[in-house]
Amino acid sequence: MDSSDIAFDAKHIWHPYTSMSHPIPAYPIVEAKGAELIMADGKTLVDGMSSWWAAIHGYNHPVLNQAATEQLQKMSHVMFGGITHPSAVNLCRQLVEITPAPLECIFLADSGSVAVEVSLKMALQYWQARGEKRQRILTLRHGYHGDTFGAMAVCDPDNSIHGLYKGYLPPHIFVEAPQCGFHDEWNSDDLLPIKQELAAKNREIAAIILEPIVQGAGGMRIYHPEYLKGVRELCDHYGILLIADEIATGFGRTGQLFACDHAAISPDIMCLGKALTGGYMTLSATLTTRHVAETISNGEAGCFMHGPTFMGNPLACAVANASLKLLLESPWQHTVAKIEQQLLAELAPLSSHTSVKQVRVLGAIGVIEMQQPVNTAELQKKFVEQGVWVRPFGRLIYVMPPYIISPEQLSKVTSAMRNVIEG
Ligand code: PMP
Repeated sequence: MDSSDIAFDAKHIWHPYTSMSHPIPAYPIVEAKGAELIMADGKTLVDGMSSWWAAIHGYNHPVLNQAATEQLQKMSHVMFGGITHPSAVNLCRQLVEITPAPLECIFLADSGSVAVEVSLKMALQYWQARGEKRQRILTLRHGYHGDTFGAMAVCDPDNSIHGLYKGYLPPHIFVEAPQCGFHDEWNSDDLLPIKQELAAKNREIAAIILEPIVQGAGGMRIYHPEYLKGVRELCDHYGILLIADEIATGFGRTGQLFACDHAAISPDIMCLGKALTGGYMTLSATLTTRHVAETISNGEAGCFMHGPTFMGNPLACAVANASLKLLLESPWQHTVAKIEQQLLAELAPLSSHTSVKQVRVLGAIGVIEMQQPVNTAELQKKFVEQGVWVRPFGRLIYVMPPYIISPEQLSKVTSAMRNVIEG
C-alpha cells in the first residue's frame, strides 16, 4: 500500500464510527502473524485487541488456515435452505456439547448483531406462540448489543451513539447496571432496580437481554456473578426468557468458557460470535432450548422467521470447528489465568495515578478507566510509535490480547499503556 492508497481510503472508505469529513488515520496493515500485525512499511505491532475480541489464537494460524483451505477445495458456500453440510453439523454438535445443558437448538447467522436480532425475534415469536402480547425487552444501562436496529434498541439509551436514534427505536426498559465489581463483596441491593421494574411490568416483558459478567463496548464494566444468578432467579420467578449475549465474552475470554459459567447459570437463549471462528471470518450462533424452539415452531407461523443468504456458511463453519478444537485441546484456562495475573501485576499499580479512575482485570481483559475522555487518534499514534496496537475509546484504555501472546509481548503492551498514561 502506498500513499495514494491511504489517500483513497481516507476519501472514499468508511471506517467504524469514523467521520468521512475529518477521518482519523487508518494504519495500513498488510499481514498479520501470531500476536503481531505487520504494517506496509514492515514495522510490526504487538496486538492488544484480538481484532475486537475475535482473534483468540492470533493471526495466520496454520491449523485454521488448513481448515479454510480444505473447505475451500470442497465448497466455500452453499445455501442452507433445504441443504445441510458436514461443517455446520460438526460445529453445532460441538456447540451443543460445550454450552450450558438445556441449549440445544442452534440458529447460525452472519454477525453478532444479527445473532442479537435473532434472539429478540425468538423471544417475540415465543410469546406470540403462547398467545401473549409481550413485546418489551428489559436490559441494563451501559449495555451494548450491536448496531442494527433491534440490537441498538437494547443498547444504553444515553451512554452510546444509539441515543441518536431515540424516538425511532422501540421503547424498551432500562434498569441501572449492577454496581458491585466482580471481586467486590456482594451487595444484594444491586438487584433492587431490576426487581422493581419486574414487579411493575413483568406481564409486558418478553425477555431480559444482558452481557453476562462483562459489559463491553458500553463501558467495560465487570460485575458480580451473584447479580447474574439473581437475574436468572427473577426470570424463573416471572417466567421471562433470559438472553445472554456472550458475543464478546464467549470462548474463554473471562477465564471461564462462557461468562455464564461464573454464575453456574444457563440462559434460555445465548448469542455467540466474534471468537467463534477464531476471528477468521464473520459467523454467529444463537442457541436456545428445545422448549423455546418448539413453542415457536408450534405457533402461528409454524417456524422461526429468519433465513440469511449466508446462513451456515461452510467456510466459516469449517474454521469455527477448527478454532473450537484448537481451543478445547489447549490448556486455555491456564493460559488465560496467566494473562490475567500478568495484566493485574502490570496494570494495577497504575490505579494510583491521578488521571486514572480505576483499573479492572478479568481473564484476558485489562481495562484502565481514565478520569477524562481520551483522544483516540492521538493515543493510537503513541501506541503505534511504541510498536503496539491498542485502540482506546471514551475514557477507556483497554486490552484483550490473543491468548497466544507471549509474556514479553504482553509486557510490551502494558508498558506502552503505562507510558501513554504517565506521558
Ligand atoms: N454484542 C456484543 C456484546 C458485542 O460486543 C458486539 C460487538 N462489539 C455485538 C453484539 C455485535 O457484534 P457484530 O459487531 O459482530 O455485529
